Amino acid sequence: MSTKKVALISGANKGIGLETARQLGKQGITIILGARDLSKGEQAATQLKKEGIDAQAIKFDVVNASDIKAAVDKIGKEFGKLDILINNAGVMSEPIGGNNSSTVSEDTLRKTFDTNFFSAVAVTQAFLLLLKKSDAGRIVNVSSILGSLTLHATEGSPIYEAKALAYDASKSALNAFTVHLAHELKGTRIKVNSAHPGWVKTDMGTDAAPMNVVDGAKTEVELATLGPDGPSGGFFHMGEPISW
Ligand code: NAP
Repeated sequence: MSTKKVALISGANKGIGLETARQLGKQGITIILGARDLSKGEQAATQLKKEGIDAQAIKFDVVNASDIKAAVDKIGKEFGKLDILINNAGVMSEPIGGNNSSTVSEDTLRKTFDTNFFSAVAVTQAFLLLLKKSDAGRIVNVSSILGSLTLHATEGSPIYEAKALAYDASKSALNAFTVHLAHELKGTRIKVNSAHPGWVKTDMGTDAAPMNVVDGAKTEVELATLGPDGPSGGFFHMGEPISW
């Protein structure tokens, strides 16, 4: 079994996922970059290696069951465990503030839930045995403040006018997974938490976002490296809890 910590990050070829990989890699953690387009993953891995990081890419389309199985087999064979799983891959195909609950198509709902919710559950379930072999397994579900039902229901909250049903509900469902799984894993060495990265300049967040990707990765990194006394079953941004 590898003596170094090993982290798998989905959707790590760009954006917050890639920067999370970089920051974890700089802490000496071995990085597996999950990318649905392997050539983009390999480009990212080459970049990180130039920065002195132990990184490799795998083809990892999170909606593809055979990619998930192949990743479990490869990481099991090569490292014998997984210390950190970051369910970072995500899609948003609606305009924020589109207020589309009466019009959003079933296709948009299903495609968004496939990536943002069903695949995060499938990936996590597939890796649980390897996570249990770690001294300190950490699962980070990359959610969004837009998944907060409390803030959506509170007039005047920062997201009250930012409604987009498929994306928001997929992240609420992901948060439910965090709470339920943390309950099931009580008494084990695994912690599972939801992260809100902030509104971050990426292809998804757009240039209008106030935060850069370096700060945008910090919440994922912090939750991925929590010590034994850290929380499990929470929803955080930069160390501060967010309402469910
Ligand atoms: P991004 O730059 O658009 O990156 C999204 C990543 O997810 C890309 O690597 C993309 O791969 C990957 N992805 C999408 N579908 C996938 C699939 N089926 N299998 C594997 N990978 C897939 O967005 P980001 O801003 O970094 O977002 C990262 C996470 O943060 C997402 O979960 C997002 O919901 C969350 N978030 C972002 C913000 C923000 O302001 N940016 C705010 C709150 C939460 P391709 O390159 O192949 O498309």
